[in-house]
Amino acid sequence: MATFRAVRIDKTDAGQSARLTDFDDNDLMDGDVTVRVEWSTVNYKDGLAVSGKAPVVRRFPMIPGIDFCGMVETSTHPEWKPGDRVILNGWGCGETHLGAYGEKARVNGDWLVPVPGGMTGREAMAIGTAGFTAMLAVMALQRHGISPDRGPVIVTGAAGGVGSVAIALLAKLGFRVIASTGRPQEEPYLKNLGASEIVERKELSAPGKPLARERWAGAIDTVGSTTLANVLAGTRYGGAVAACGLAGGMDLPTTVAPFILRGVSLLGIDSVMCPQPPRREAWKRLATDLDRGKLQTMTNEIQLPGVLVAAPAILDGRIRGRIVVKIG
Ligand code: NDP
Repeated sequence: MATFRAVRIDKTDAGQSARLTDFDDNDLMDGDVTVRVEWSTVNYKDGLAVSGKAPVVRRFPMIPGIDFCGMVETSTHPEWKPGDRVILNGWGCGETHLGAYGEKARVNGDWLVPVPGGMTGREAMAIGTAGFTAMLAVMALQRHGISPDRGPVIVTGAAGGVGSVAIALLAKLGFRVIASTGRPQEEPYLKNLGASEIVERKELSAPGKPLARERWAGAIDTVGSTTLANVLAGTRYGGAVAACGLAGGMDLPTTVAPFILRGVSLLGIDSVMCPQPPRREAWKRLATDLDRGKLQTMTNEIQLPGVLVAAPAILDGRIRGRIVVKIG
């Protein structure tokens, strides 16, 4: 019997629990590509899945982990052959399909993208779903015509994974970046990534007015709830807000005022089911538009057992930047 090391989530009457164990190759799910997983990462959703704090996992047993980078071992898919270096993020990986926190994964080849030239597997997962989502948000703002001459862009949840990559991307593209954080001690870190102004989290998290002073042309919001409402209220005429997260709550207690009186647009960002053309474009742009030195400064590396410790920590907002997981 062939086995591989993996984090496994089981559900019993006592609840859900995660542990590191040996997983039987025969228990892998259907797929036309088998990948030797080399790197993964810990995203906010992974924290929810591993700790069981939200119903992210919808099949048991489950190998969690929503994204990985690795080498194709076997393939019957026309696009992929053994030795190809591939990325998978989203598509239900770690939710409905056995995921990334194991040395082996068998998946649908249609979900994969090639690792962009010049990018290492470690860098791909230092970016991971969080960085990919930040890139989708930047692309959405740009599609809406938000350019550096229109004014600054605010990033909420700034010291987190999506926030950190978003700041580095926006700064490299020439935007003036305002970083909103609940960790003022991270000001030097955020300024090193490219932020030029820091706004305290509490300034945006308390209920505010339907319209506020026009402060930013664009926003990338990872927090949701009253924070997103205040971000909308402070957006300049004709500006746009890319909403991608719920770290502060899933609700949105806003009014129509920013939309009908200032022509502000709310742009939804989803990384999971993102179709292949924008998916591949985002990964290509991450290879060129993200400063690798800054990516390195925001990344900490752990091994597979460390996932069990990092999962609750990311939910508590104690992780700065990105965590990359060396598998195997
Ligand atoms: P992180 O935990 O790394 O970052 C979240 C940040 O939000 C924290 O670092 C903290 O930043 C801030 N924060 C945490 N709790 C609160 C709170 N209660 N109120 C206000 N701010 C808070 O997570 P990620 O960056 O990986 O993900 C961020 C969000 O984006 C998550 O909600 C995640 O589910 C979502 N997401 C969505 C995707 C999509 O496809 N739409 C894909 C990836 C992520 P600070 O300390 O600086 O204030």
